[in-house]
Amino acid sequence: MEKKVTNQKKRKGSLRTSILVRTLVPMLLMGAIFAIAAISAYQRFLVKELEEALKGVAKSVAASYETMVPGLYQTTGDTEPYKILKGDTEITGNYALIDAVAKESETEVSVIFGNVRVLTTLNNSHGERYINSGVNPAIVSDMEKNKAAIFHEVEIEGNAYYVCYIPIYNNDVYVGMVAAAKSVRDMKSERNAALFPILLITILCMLLASIISVTYTSGLLGDVRSMKKFLHGMMGGELSNELPAPLLKRSDEMGEIGKDLNDMQAAIRVLVERDPLTGLYNRRYGGARLRKMMQQKEKYGTSCAVCICDIDFFKKVNDTYGHDAGDEVLKRVASILTRGMTGKGFVARWGGEEFLLAFNKVGQDQAAAYLEEILDQIRAAEVHYGAQTIRVTMSFGVADGGPYTDYGPLLNEADARLYYGKQNGRNQVVSTSSEILKAMAEEKKAKEENAKAVLESHQVDEVARAAKKVEALVADAEPGDENMMEGTEKNTASTKEDPDVENLIPSAELAGKMAKEHDMDKNLFNQSELIEQIIQRIGDTLLKEISENDD
Ligand code: GH3
Ligand code: MG
Ligand code: MG
Repeated sequence: MEKKVTNQKKRKGSLRTSILVRTLVPMLLMGAIFAIAAISAYQRFLVKELEEALKGVAKSVAASYETMVPGLYQTTGDTEPYKILKGDTEITGNYALIDAVAKESETEVSVIFGNVRVLTTLNNSHGERYINSGVNPAIVSDMEKNKAAIFHEVEIEGNAYYVCYIPIYNNDVYVGMVAAAKSVRDMKSERNAALFPILLITILCMLLASIISVTYTSGLLGDVRSMKKFLHGMMGGELSNELPAPLLKRSDEMGEIGKDLNDMQAAIRVLVERDPLTGLYNRRYGGARLRKMMQQKEKYGTSCAVCICDIDFFKKVNDTYGHDAGDEVLKRVASILTRGMTGKGFVARWGGEEFLLAFNKVGQDQAAAYLEEILDQIRAAEVHYGAQTIRVTMSFGVADGGPYTDYGPLLNEADARLYYGKQNGRNQVVSTSSEILKAMAEEKKAKEENAKAVLESHQVDEVARAAKKVEALVADAEPGDENMMEGTEKNTASTKEDPDVENLIPSAELAGKMAKEHDMDKNLFNQSELIEQIIQRIGDTLLKEISENDD
């Protein structure tokens, strides 16, 4: 119920209804007014014509009596029905003249004496001549007073007639009237017959105008609807809709609005989809395109590959040449990547100095070959910023889309390969699977640990050698001055025979303890360095004791 009301409201308020109401209604109204005005004007014209025609008929009857039957009009008899004579000839009962005139002029003719019809072509409701009937007293009195032609619409025997009365005289003495009448109904049907083609043409014109108006309005509304749909699409984030070509070809305001909407969509697309610095797709749009590409791959079984790449030591570029110079490098790299990817897929700025390259209908091996070419161009590129020339390299991790249905794990794989590239020298394209890379890393780690163990055993030997060196140092110091040794503490005064001297020879454990004692960072502490320091300290201690003894 509620829905119905809303729909009704919608229809009432629609542009289509408004336009049609505002064009068709005035047009129909105008047509109706024109038709009514035409009918009434034509009617007035006809009535005027009829008046003249009826007057002519009545005059011709009166004139005919004058010429055909000479003499004065006179009545015989005192009671009705009167007999009317003209001269010596009785004219009542003689209908030849008025019947002939009536037939010829398609009118009704009456001859009236006083206020009575004595001769007439009119019939009453029984089909008899309507003679000896009374004439409208107002007409009679008007005629008696003015003795001039009267034209009036009157009712005779329930029928309406236009009647023209003219006076008849015996010399100058008024005696009666001759009336010529035309049925109003007949006159109207003649009028309608004459007006019918005009009305038909009017109605056809209105119909044509309505069809033109409705067709034009429908076209206009179709375009308005397209624009509304287009705008709604934009509001819903759909920025790839297109307006119909006929709308854009229009040379009127609608066409201009259509073009403006297209421009607006393009501007919004740039804002929403592009990275302002490089002009590349941004991460959001790049992700959406990648998702679409994966769907296409799933649907049609096409191949694809994805690469994540990153400028090497870019922070250094910023630190060395400044952030603006870094921006220039980013722009140049973006342009090389775009050129290198033309016809192969698309590029998006994935992060600060990190890019996504998506290869469509291209497998990993082919993609890796393309990437080597791109990397060569990156290596060769020189970015001139002020007086500086900046060169950079990049690392690429590329993975085949084939085994993946979702782009997330595919990106992770490409990222893992990039990471390996970064950890292993940068400036390269890595297309080896992360599992193999992991195995390689583990193998490398094992090798390193092995090498470390060998090194440590070497270091133990070195410690022993160092202990011997200390022993020799102590021995060298001992015979020089006996007193010196007396003044020293017990353990430092020890001789070769003194077992305490042996304590000066540091074991690996002691070396660690000494490092701690001397507040050294154990993490940074290197065994060989430690040994050097131990020797140094023992040497320092002995020298100190010697100098104290000297004092
Ligand atoms: P790596 O080879 O390991 O990638 O080293 P890196 O120095 O390139 O990487 P790191 O992540 O340490 O530094 C990236 C730098 O990129 C840091 C950041 O200031 C810079 N950067 C990110 N976005 C922009 C940018 O739009 N313009 C400029 N000029 N620098 C940017
Ligand atoms: Mg980097
Ligand atoms: Mg980075």
